[in-house]
Amino acid sequence: MESIRPPRPQLEELIPYDVKDVKAEVILSSNEHPDNLPGEIVEWLADRLPRFSFNRYPDPTAKELRGLIAEANGLEPGNVLVGNGGDEIIFDILLAWGGPERTLLDLPPTFAMYAIDATSTGTTVISVPRNADFSIDEEAVLAALATGDVDLVVIANPNNPTGNLSNESFLIDVLNATDALVLVDEAYFEFSRHTMRPHMERHSNLVILRTFSKAFSLAGLRVGYALAHEDVISELMKVRQPYSVDAFSQWVATKVFRERVVFQSAIRDIMRERDRLLHGLSSLSGVQVFPSEANFVLFRVDQAGALWRDLLHTHSVLVRDLSRAPGLEDCLRVTVGSPQENTRFLEAMAHALSYRTESQLITNDAAQRHELASNAASQSQSTVSPEEVGY
Ligand code: PMP
Repeated sequence: MESIRPPRPQLEELIPYDVKDVKAEVILSSNEHPDNLPGEIVEWLADRLPRFSFNRYPDPTAKELRGLIAEANGLEPGNVLVGNGGDEIIFDILLAWGGPERTLLDLPPTFAMYAIDATSTGTTVISVPRNADFSIDEEAVLAALATGDVDLVVIANPNNPTGNLSNESFLIDVLNATDALVLVDEAYFEFSRHTMRPHMERHSNLVILRTFSKAFSLAGLRVGYALAHEDVISELMKVRQPYSVDAFSQWVATKVFRERVVFQSAIRDIMRERDRLLHGLSSLSGVQVFPSEANFVLFRVDQAGALWRDLLHTHSVLVRDLSRAPGLEDCLRVTVGSPQENTRFLEAMAHALSYRTESQLITNDAAQRHELASNAASQSQSTVSPEEVGY
């Protein structure tokens, strides 16, 4: 056959996630931990690596890790699901609670994977945009829930890429207002120290998502977990891939979780550095900084696209350009890096802003218009572009 029958029409709206292969000396674009795993953990793993069974399938339900996570959270293993990153669990939730004739309530601007997974599972998305300060339009959310049409609500707390927390009392109102599944995505919990865990007993529709990718230096291995009522976990078990979390990742994540106190001082350092970035950025004229409870900071600045290019090409500092995402016009997001990386970023910002002469702005603006025009020409009508994923 020379022709190929087309896939599901919904895929026309999607662009595959493809991190641009951008090289930079200072990478502050993906909310990763600035440090690799602590040396003593790497040595412990290295000593045992020769005896690791690469030839055996992994434990499909990651029993050991699940048990540890359950115990640490005062729960039973039946309340925990371990996945191939939080991403896989989000997808599993859309597979189980979304699908054709089902509806996700999304609160953009937020982590774009919710809407992307909704599209790939054929789920209808109702969006309630956040207010200008990125707080949730609480009344509009409660009104949308009151229709009874929503099957799943997702609230990132703190929100990525805006960094702010929602009001706990509002989250409780949401849990009371609906029997829809309420996913509270706590990917940045270790930095915000706020959790909805105490509300699990009263609200069986609450799912909490966490990850090893941020505070535990494990973005490269892909391990995340969900805490939920056992009935929710058993539904997710039906749709998940049986061996999605490989044996090596389970082994390393188990060691990391056992040693999690070792990570506390680096978490505190990151929180201190976050404050330094917040202060440093607010002292720059023309920069509007949004408060953050996570390991990144969102800021707004005129001609953000041009500044992004200048930071990269002149200073070799890579941040996330969100300036084309709806609601995030002229916004960039910087991950909290090591003290040296943060200093380098702040110096690059001060330098780039001080050199923004009239002519430079005009040239950059023209270049950006050109880039926008060619993007518009080459892209179909996508609802979410990969750059808006905001990892
Ligand atoms: N949720 C949020 C809000 C995120 O920002 C991310 C990644 N940046 C994830 C979930 C997924 O994380 P991972 O797949 O690395 O566990």
